[in-house]
Formats: sequence, structure tokens, C-alpha cells
Amino acid sequence: MSIISDSLKRIKPSPTIAVTQKARELRAAGKDVIGLGAGEPDFDTPDNIKDAAIQAIRDGDTKYTAVDGTPALKKAIVEKFKRENNLDFNTDQITVGTGGKQVLYNAFMATLNKGDEVIIPAPFWVSYPDMVLLAGGKPKIIKCDEKDGFKLTAKKLQKAISKKTKWLILNSPSNPTGAGYTKNEIEDLAKILIKNKRVHILSDDIYEHIRYDNFNFFTIAQISKLKDRTLTMNGVSKSYAMTGWRIGYAAGPKDIIKAIGKIQSQSTSNPSSVSQAAAVEALNGSQDFIKERSDAFKERRDFVVKSLNNIKGINCLTPNGAFYVFPSCKGLLNKKTKLKTDSEFVQKLLEKENVAVVQGSAFGLDGYFRISYATSMENLKKAMDRIKSFCESIS
Ligand code: PLP
Repeated sequence: MSIISDSLKRIKPSPTIAVTQKARELRAAGKDVIGLGAGEPDFDTPDNIKDAAIQAIRDGDTKYTAVDGTPALKKAIVEKFKRENNLDFNTDQITVGTGGKQVLYNAFMATLNKGDEVIIPAPFWVSYPDMVLLAGGKPKIIKCDEKDGFKLTAKKLQKAISKKTKWLILNSPSNPTGAGYTKNEIEDLAKILIKNKRVHILSDDIYEHIRYDNFNFFTIAQISKLKDRTLTMNGVSKSYAMTGWRIGYAAGPKDIIKAIGKIQSQSTSNPSSVSQAAAVEALNGSQDFIKERSDAFKERRDFVVKSLNNIKGINCLTPNGAFYVFPSCKGLLNKKTKLKTDSEFVQKLLEKENVAVVQGSAFGLDGYFRISYATSMENLKKAMDRIKSFCESIS
């Protein structure tokens, strides 16, 4: 009999981490691999944030803290929500975890009973379905079309809701498509949700600050009738180039926040004291570099979208946020190219041209692939040339 639990058999390792790992291995074996799989900014954490962490260490801020976040960080988060989203929360409506990932995981563990359904619009961030499965819930994947900008429509949402629906996950701007929901689009979804009172909403806002073309960020908790049913997750990983520091947080109904803290108290306890001090500086300090970095990302986005759309067989929408594009490779899946699936496309691209991207099917939508452009322009130029020669060589 296997030592491994049944619940673990329901899930698989993260495919995006797997691609990054594979690229790392090939590089170690001497291959000139360009990795476009990683979901993290290539920029360094700003100096004021690093200095705050060093100061915290010197001040002896090196002990256990309150399980779900220091009072100083919770206060900074309350102020962030007020300043940036016009949302009022008390500190007992805030929880801090070891990355947004842990906060989400705890939220599902704290709320899902066997058979509870979670509506997940696809393409989705790879961890949502597996976290739901691990917690005993049932992911209800709703495919969103390219023609709708890969976004969930009110009609599809209405159809997806059942008596068992506990959560709807919204992620804007999105990983893997970069698509951001406008205020109007969120209001359309809200009309359905207001009528379906049992459904809670988990809004993953981790890419809030990475947005382009004057896209106005709007989060569903701003709809007052839904605020009591919404858990808004965010974090410092992407906005402040702090992926390794592992700080994420959420704001929402007190009972859910308390339950998340209870799980954390019996698993990891508090997130790192030093990282929390750094996160206070990230949220309270100068926000100037967010704009600078978004401008740098925009230049890369424009270059990547244009280059991809110049390749026969590839079609790529222009996203308004995050640092991903999600082009279609359907035009190259045919008898002539001898490629049947996006996975084959991605595998051959890696084998022939040493460019690592992730297949769309890993995100729940076949016929696409995800490129992370959080890497240097130099790398992106090389990668686009290689993708073009690969596509030309097979067609
Ligand atoms: N949500 C989305 C959509 C993400 O892409 C990620 C990271 O890749 C996370 C949440 C979690 O980020 P972290 O755990 O670093 O805060």
C-alpha cells in the first residue's frame, strides 16, 4: 500500500515551475536556453525595501510575530486598500501569509467541504484547481473565449452557478493572459452574483500594479453589495519584485479571516518577521518605481505582441496587464506541421530552438501557449527570432 495520501494523488506538480526547472537543467547541461516560463519580475527588490529588512534584523525583529501578521503590516495593508481601492477594512479583516499562494490555499482549506464547487474561469493560474482538489472541493472550469478577451461573461457565469457553488475565482489582470476586467465587465458579473447570495468571490489581485494603456483597475469588493462575500487577495511579490520574500495578504469577512489564521496557527505560524518589515516599507514607502517598471514592461509587451503577430500561424491579443501574453498556435497545429497539440508545439520549440514557454493546456485552454516577458529585451529579441524560425521551419 502506498504511503502517499489519497488527497495528494488528486493533484500534480505545478507545470510552470516544471518548465522553469527544465530550462534550468538544460542550461546547466550547457544549452543556450531562453526561459520564458517564469512568473516573476526580473527586476531587483528596491533598495528602500531591502534597507528596511536590514534595519529590522539589526533591531532584533527576528522573533515569532502574531500568526496572521504584525500590527504594523496589517495597518499598512488597511491603508493600502483605502488609498488605492477606496475600500475600508479593520485590521481584524486582514490576514498575512507566506505568499499569496499560502493565503489562497488556507482560504480553500478553511471553507471547502467535500463536493463544494469552485468556479474557475479558464485559462487560469495553474494552482487554483489543484488547491481546490487538495481541499476536497470540485473545480468547475469554465472556458473563456479569445473573442471575449479570455474573460468570463455574465452569461457563462450564470450557467456555471449551481446549488453547490461556494466560490467564484476572479483574477485580474490575469495569469496567464494578462487580461484585465474593466469596471463595466465586473459590474455585469456582479449583477449575477448579487442574485446568487450563497456564492463567495475570491478576487486575486496580485497583478494590480502591473498594467498598461491607462487601464483602470477595479476590484469586485468595490461593489458594496458584494463586499461582505468577497475575499480580496494581494501581495508584494509581483508589484514590488519581492517573490522570494514570501508575503501575501487578504482582506475580507471576519469569519473567513479568522479561519485562515486558525489553519496557519497549526501549520506554518507567522510569515517571516523580516519579510513582514520589508513589506511594511513596500506598502508605505515611495511607489514611484511601480510606474517606471510598468513602463519597462510595456515596452517589452509591445515588442513581443508585434513580433508574434508577424509570425504566420501565430495570433496574439494585446493584454492590458501582468507580464504575460497568451498567443494562439492553432494555425500551426495541422497535418503539414505534424503537430497536434500545444504541448507538442512547446516541446518541439524547446528541443529545436531552446526556448522554454508553457503550453496553454496547462492553464485549461488548448491551442495556446504562455510567454512571460519578465526578462531582458535582449533575451526577448533572441527568443522572438528563434520562435519565428521555428514556426517557419515547420510550416
Ligand atoms: N496568483 C497568481 C495569479 C499568481 O500568478 C501567483 C504567482 O505566480 C500568485 C497568486 C502567488 O504569488 P505569491 O505566492 O508569490 O504571492
